[in-house]
Amino acid sequence: MKVCIIGTGYVGLVTGACLAELGNNIICVDNDEGKIEMLKRGEIPIYEPGLEEMIRNCQAKKRISFTTSIADGVKASEIVFIAVSTPARPDGSADLTAVATVARQVAENLNGYKIVVDKSTVPVKTGEKVAETIRRYRADSVEFDIVSNPEFLREGSAIYDTFHPDRIVIGTESPKAARILTELYKPLQAPVIVTDVNSAEIIKHASNSFLATKISFANALARICEKAGANVEEVTRGMGLDKRIGTQFLNAGIGYGGSCFPKDVSAFIKISEELGYDFRLLKEVENINHEQIQFFFEKIKEVLWILEGKQLGVLGLAFKPNTDDMRNAPSVALIRMLLKEGAKVKAYDPQAMKRARQELETIQYCDDPYQVADSSEALIILSEWNEFKEMDLERIKRLLHHPIIIDGRNIYDPARMKELGFVYHCVGRS
Ligand code: NAD
Repeated sequence: MKVCIIGTGYVGLVTGACLAELGNNIICVDNDEGKIEMLKRGEIPIYEPGLEEMIRNCQAKKRISFTTSIADGVKASEIVFIAVSTPARPDGSADLTAVATVARQVAENLNGYKIVVDKSTVPVKTGEKVAETIRRYRADSVEFDIVSNPEFLREGSAIYDTFHPDRIVIGTESPKAARILTELYKPLQAPVIVTDVNSAEIIKHASNSFLATKISFANALARICEKAGANVEEVTRGMGLDKRIGTQFLNAGIGYGGSCFPKDVSAFIKISEELGYDFRLLKEVENINHEQIQFFFEKIKEVLWILEGKQLGVLGLAFKPNTDDMRNAPSVALIRMLLKEGAKVKAYDPQAMKRARQELETIQYCDDPYQVADSSEALIILSEWNEFKEMDLERIKRLLHHPIIIDGRNIYDPARMKELGFVYHCVGRS
């Protein structure tokens, strides 16, 4: 099928590459000229495992192309995906400026029946607004249908997730659009839920809010476990093996971050408020998340006492492993707190340092974990890259000024760390 994808970020680019890999003809559009020029040269502006090879392969087969022209993309395609950013406004609501701009540009370029599919995460009733906008700005009475097709991929495993989704949600009032979209996704052999646009939009916000709730629940448990002398990992495992609960997203740590959970939870609180419901549960999920990073900072101070002048090593800057995404990474908030107390910070992340430099200018960036450990007073772990799990801990211990590790992601076994001679502090495990 001929598909146009507007917005060539983590979602749009991966979706475009995967649909091209399945044999479709894809035109990816973005208003960032630099990004499009890079992509035309076969360079990938984000880090996502396997993406570069897949795009090069599809480019060679002429199944994917890149342009800044929405007109070219829309006119050549039957299906038009909107995958632009929907960041948070200062009041927590979703900023839909890019979606509105794109809807208008799509309208102005309709040259025949199109299915306009919203893949960006948007508040309920956005589909109605997009339809209204298209009706208002289209030059003549060309037919179109609106679909809400929320995306559930996770950065770091985005290609795997796109090819193996737990479900595909197609929200539309049009049986024709539902049939064509179902056909597009047929090779994935995943369960398809066809529903109305409003329900599809709520499914996305509700899913992310529920996952964030699990994380905050685990973090609240961690606080109780520390006070009670229990082990939160054992507790969440004991809970999670119950199939009704599930083990995923029950990890205590330094709280959720990234480009989705923080903005989607606050947007869902705002959406509920506008609909006349006070979502107090989600407000508390947010509170627990904000407290968690503060709690971890206090833990560091408790261990190291005065931070002024102390050299600290940080491992992991991205909001999670296998991505270079620094949007709302808890590392930024934590490192700023450390710097404010007068600490000196050396840091390393396998992929996110280029982006981290834009947020954190005054820290020293290192080539590997050993350089970070060298002469540091303590090592602080903020994201759980495999590289850190597999480090030569004997070497790390020799390099550190004091053998102290403060682990915000619980990546080591406390008993083993004790055996190795570390003073090891983690979250929710005594
Ligand atoms: P992103 O910032 O990586 O990419 C968005 C792209 O849209 C950028 O390249 C930007 O230049 C482009 N863009 C913005 N305005 C435009 C315009 N007017 N015309 C053309 N291009 C424009 O964002 P993302 O992470 O890919 O997220 C996109 C949407 O998908 C968001 O709504 C997000 O909440 C949702 N989502 C993201 C993820 C994720 O893991 N990143 C997962 C599921 C859903």
